[in-house]
Amino acid sequence: MLNIESFKEQLSSWQRIVIIPHQKPDADALGSSLALWGFFNKKGYQAVVISPTAYADFLSWLPGNPQVVVYSEQTEESCRYFIAQADLIFCLDFNDLKRCAPLDVFVNENPKALKVLIDHHQDKKDFADLEYCRVTAAATAELVYEFIHLIGSDQDIDCDIATCIYAGIMTDTGSFKYASVTPHIHRIVANLLEKGINHTVIHRNIYDNSTLDRLRLKGFALSERLKVIPELSTAYFVLTKQDLNRFNHQIGDTEGLVNYGLSIKGIKLAVILKEDDGFVKMSLRSVGDFSVNDLARNHFNGGGHINAAGGRLEMSIEEAEKTFLHVITHYADRLATS
Ligand code: 5GP
Ligand code: MN
Repeated sequence: MLNIESFKEQLSSWQRIVIIPHQKPDADALGSSLALWGFFNKKGYQAVVISPTAYADFLSWLPGNPQVVVYSEQTEESCRYFIAQADLIFCLDFNDLKRCAPLDVFVNENPKALKVLIDHHQDKKDFADLEYCRVTAAATAELVYEFIHLIGSDQDIDCDIATCIYAGIMTDTGSFKYASVTPHIHRIVANLLEKGINHTVIHRNIYDNSTLDRLRLKGFALSERLKVIPELSTAYFVLTKQDLNRFNHQIGDTEGLVNYGLSIKGIKLAVILKEDDGFVKMSLRSVGDFSVNDLARNHFNGGGHINAAGGRLEMSIEEAEKTFLHVITHYADRLATS
């Protein structure tokens, strides 16, 4: 494993850089990627962000967004080409190369590129040549901020880069309310504010940028699709394709919805089961020491953080709900209100 000092020494010998966030990147994954892209672009490197999938429209205002290449059938050849030509490949905000599928195949096809992982998820897989990872970091954007300071200087962080970093930190801390918030994060944010970012506009761009359909889907899900199991301190949503289609569902439309489950008094576990093509995507949230990372890893083919994780079940939505309900009965001791 390379260390940052030798990485920094060799930096000038590299030229082509590919930066990859996880599938359906959120503001942390995309903001981190665009912040790092901004840094390398300004330094004169040939850098490109390649997203494994499309992402929410409320992220498209992020500085640097127009240069992002989104993988699709049309862009497959250019994605493969960029990754094959890369000297450096950055993997941002994920802990397992599978999380950037289908780009993982192209990454594996280029053994000569140096792979750098910057991430804050638990249970990281070994696939990178250089890691800058810390599970106690509130956001990958926090790590990108530090990483830029390690390989460059504070002067390199301009207002656009600061905006991308702030977007990642703001969203991954639940607007500075999660347990992951530290004095260190607030010091970083103080510095970002001094760079001239407009935190009010950033917040509005992300949280007050819904379509009417998205807002109506939220209302429908809350009134018709939220179930509560008081004895297991659990609240969960089941959204079928029919429900989603009714509200013209777009990527990102259900982001944040799961948290409403946790806003009910006494609820410790909140989950969304969302029907997709041939599988059910799960989003899990918890409060306190109940680990949804363990739950998702052990039962739902996923993972994440202690209080926020995702997973998937390759079965019908009805089967997935049954499976979920069966699994959580095994956690009754830990979920039951004391
Ligand atoms: P979300 O529920 O917002 O999609 O994801 C919550 C957290 O879990 C994020 O940190 C995300 O990166 C992670 N996550 C989401 N889906 C998966 C998954 O399928 N596998 C793993 N390992 N992590 C996931
Ligand atoms: Mn993150």
